Amino acid sequence: MKLIENWFSERYSDNLQLSFRVQDQLLSVKTDYQRIDVFETYDFGKLLTIDGTVQLTERDEFVYHEMITMVPYYLASRKPQKALIIGGGDGGTAGQLLKLGFQSVVNVEIDTQVVEVSKKYFPDLYRPLTDKKVELIIDDGVKYIRKTDRKFDLVIVDSTDPVGPAEGLFMKDFYASIKNILTDSGIVVTQSGSPFYQPKALQMAHSGMSEVFGYVRTYTAFIPTYPSGFWSFTMASDYDCKGRLDNINPGKYFNSDVLRGAFSLPEFVKELIK
Ligand code: SAM
Repeated sequence: MKLIENWFSERYSDNLQLSFRVQDQLLSVKTDYQRIDVFETYDFGKLLTIDGTVQLTERDEFVYHEMITMVPYYLASRKPQKALIIGGGDGGTAGQLLKLGFQSVVNVEIDTQVVEVSKKYFPDLYRPLTDKKVELIIDDGVKYIRKTDRKFDLVIVDSTDPVGPAEGLFMKDFYASIKNILTDSGIVVTQSGSPFYQPKALQMAHSGMSEVFGYVRTYTAFIPTYPSGFWSFTMASDYDCKGRLDNINPGKYFNSDVLRGAFSLPEFVKELIK
């Protein structure tokens, strides 16, 4: 990734980009799967990008990591204990699950280099991956889910966008394999992109899950450094998750008001997933 006058820019289209002024480029490496860059920005702390797209920044990662974990956690009918993360090699999602009290977390990341980069540049996010409750497996999530005979209360797809290695993570067949490894009160959740700039990611996730599960719901959050700042997640289960809502511990973004509001979708988003 080449810097132009110390600005990193993520291109949304030929005519639009988001730019961060950076103090320094700390890393640029091409792995077997993707290009990883780390920048020290002025306003958002360290920034991790994969193939030129923002994955996380130190300043706003809490929104994404709380919303991908706490929403399904509190909506499950029984307190979930065992989780599987697909992707998430930075460790941010595993960290939130440990805070929520999960007994065991299996984290399947395809690219060992993402883990190494997190260890070096985002040590606070990485640390949970060394916890004895967390088992880190370097493998393709699609393959892992097909072959494992373990069962999980929560499966979190914390992936890159549906191009390259993550393409299979938005397919109906993948969701069908996930269904086989969920417990009775199990839930699957995936990040499903920006409804404004990546409507296809949301549509793929929503329609793929709808073909396989009885209940599918999309929710949103405000993540300043992701395209449009308006982000979606889509969760599915085979029962109507009413949740355990009487004892909610707020995070830094998440609380009971956010939980309720996150499922109130603007009309154009409802249209997308009709
Ligand atoms: N918060 C991020 C976002 O939405 O921009 C996602 C972060 S996390 C770094 C995404 C991870 O998914 C990457 O480390 C990537 O290597 C991993 N990944 C992509 N395809 C995968 C696959 N098929 N199996 C397992 N991990 C995969």
